Amino acid sequence: MSGIYLVSFGQIQPELLNDLSEELGKRLALPVISNYRHTIPEDALNQERNQYMASAFLSKLRLVTGTENSKLLGITGVDLYITGLNFVFGQAHVGGKASVISLARLHPQNADDMDGLFQERILKEAVHELGHTFGLDHCRDHHCVMHFSNGIAETDIKAASFCARHKAEFETNKQPVEAEQTRQQSHDALG
Ligand SMILES: [Zn+2]
Ligand SMILES: [Zn+2]
Repeated sequence: MSGIYLVSFGQIQPELLNDLSEELGKRLALPVISNYRHTIPEDALNQERNQYMASAFLSKLRLVTGTENSKLLGITGVDLYITGLNFVFGQAHVGGKASVISLARLHPQNADDMDGLFQERILKEAVHELGHTFGLDHCRDHHCVMHFSNGIAETDIKAASFCARHKAEFETNKQPVEAEQTRQQSHDALG
């Protein structure tokens, strides 16, 4: 089946994954499959920084088989970095297959906001990184989900949805994934 695969690296709350998968399915109008698990790549740990190199997660995702013509989103609780930045909320191959988000910096300060705000932030970062895999670049519009977040305040300002330009680009670029989905469905029906 082609669509979006959620891959948890390490233990992720099942309710959180269910919510995310449901929301992503609705917003991106693609099937979301969320039962993949992976161990945290310990060789990606930088002991001095106590952070993990994001690209190592993308490399692991590229090796997941049976997901051709699909997009993969890794989700992990550990803090991620790339060289030159203190941290990243996530990383993706632009126009590629693999993306990853970290939950480490998305936890609300105030426990009262806990569930709603946490889920909202996760959704925004997930749509953002998946947007990159569909070939979308960063946006100047602070409200577009493709706006780059330097910090959590910028994540909170932006919406979980695309601006008009990015929406149009997304719809065009997702067509091969949809076409593959339709092809597989008719194949399934025959078999
Ligand atoms: Zn980005
Ligand atoms: Zn935009």
